Amino acid sequence: MTKQSDKDSSKNSKSKEGLTVKKSENFSEWYSQIIEKAEIVDLRLGIKGFVIIRPWGTLIIERLYDMFEKELQNKGHLPVIMPSVIPESNLKKEESHIQGFAPEVFWLETDKEGKNGKEERLALRPTSETVFTPMFALWVRSHRDLPLKLYQRGSVFRYDTKSTRPLVRGREFYWIECHDAFATKKEAEAQVQEDIDTTRKILYEKFGIPFLPIRRPSWDKFAGAEYTIGSDVLMPDGKLIQQPSTHFMGQRFSKAFDAKFTTKEGKEEYLYTTAYGPAVSRILVSVISTHGDDKGLVLPFEIAPVQAVVIPIYTVKNKSKILKYAGEIMKKLEANGVRTKLDSDENSTPGWKFHEWELKGVPFRIEIGEKELKGKKFTLFTRDTGVKTTAPLGKFGYIKKLGEAYDKRLKTRADNNMKGKTVSCKTKEDIRKILKEGKIARVNFCSTEKKGEKCAEYVEKEIGAEVRGTLADRNEKPFGKCIICNTSANVVVYIAKSY
Ligand SMILES: [Zn+2]
Repeated sequence: MTKQSDKDSSKNSKSKEGLTVKKSENFSEWYSQIIEKAEIVDLRLGIKGFVIIRPWGTLIIERLYDMFEKELQNKGHLPVIMPSVIPESNLKKEESHIQGFAPEVFWLETDKEGKNGKEERLALRPTSETVFTPMFALWVRSHRDLPLKLYQRGSVFRYDTKSTRPLVRGREFYWIECHDAFATKKEAEAQVQEDIDTTRKILYEKFGIPFLPIRRPSWDKFAGAEYTIGSDVLMPDGKLIQQPSTHFMGQRFSKAFDAKFTTKEGKEEYLYTTAYGPAVSRILVSVISTHGDDKGLVLPFEIAPVQAVVIPIYTVKNKSKILKYAGEIMKKLEANGVRTKLDSDENSTPGWKFHEWELKGVPFRIEIGEKELKGKKFTLFTRDTGVKTTAPLGKFGYIKKLGEAYDKRLKTRADNNMKGKTVSCKTKEDIRKILKEGKIARVNFCSTEKKGEKCAEYVEKEIGAEVRGTLADRNEKPFGKCIICNTSANVVVYIAKSY
């Protein structure tokens, strides 16, 4: 620690220390440290399952929201704002939905005796099918109003008893929920495929996070859905985390809410609905975990709230000249569309600032000192490679190009990291071994319908892992008998530990 950091350590001492563990040696501790030290969250309010997301974390989350929403709007979705509460009678309309969600619902005490008798009890929304579908019934009259594709950004509330790790599982989390209505089953199922494409375009192409699209077994689908496709991302500790999932509801919700439309032929028909939910606070977990290193966050260029930080290095003598030069450089970067911050804070040393912005994962650092001023150039440090180069002034447009190459590198690194992580297994012992190595087991399995539930229970109890489901973008043929019960296998499933 430098003298400088001692001076203002009372202000925000947490952020001043670097990470004290290596990601590869103790991922769990690394994660706990990075989210606090990089000022993503603050847990000190101490409400189980609820966190404060600090400005740096919030700025990142805003970027995640913007990028997802832009893609959704490109694909014909429109934004809407629905209430955060759901009347009890709505929530209870679709039977399997309420059965699935009942234990997790936060109820508001609104059923007090008032002047006009009891008001209906309200739930904090755990998800919003039961307010969207009754509105579909009102907004859609005929086939001409279809498809209707809506989304909202906001938070949902679930009384999650497993909510231990911040942002991974929370009792309140931030997401986008899309609710779409269609005239036919075919169109609705095409939407489910489009949702997987959205996940691919944003989560993978933009954020550099590889995932497996997995159709969940019937016992693990969304409460009220006909089927669910999740996207599983491997964490550095070998556990899978579910990222955006998409659900085909068929006509279950529209029947419960009597949401009908008139077909071309003039007949009354129930709507087909789908739902898609990218949870941005949880996606942030994968951004942090996939790209971060022993020095801190490594934010993709497209996501970083600050893409380049300019740090002036001066003495009393040349201070004003250097600051002026640094200011000019910042303006030029901004004019070239680079989100830039000039860190001219006088209370911190350049060394401390280097450390701080590396911890926060800013892709590029531009150092401006006497040498740079005289030579009409700047020194450029790249966060992921740790390489320092010198460039002549005037070449600022290329920072964006460098940013693209930077994001490509992060994605390639993440892809390489996934190579060999899925292993075909022939025996239960194989599965145990593969899981111990932090990998995903690919096995023959009897069924992902009711019939396979016993075998899945065995996997959970005896092997301590989960049957995640079958690949959704490929029809894989089994290559032997069910690895658990030895009857003929109908599917190839993926087994792993999960969050
Ligand atoms: Zn079996």
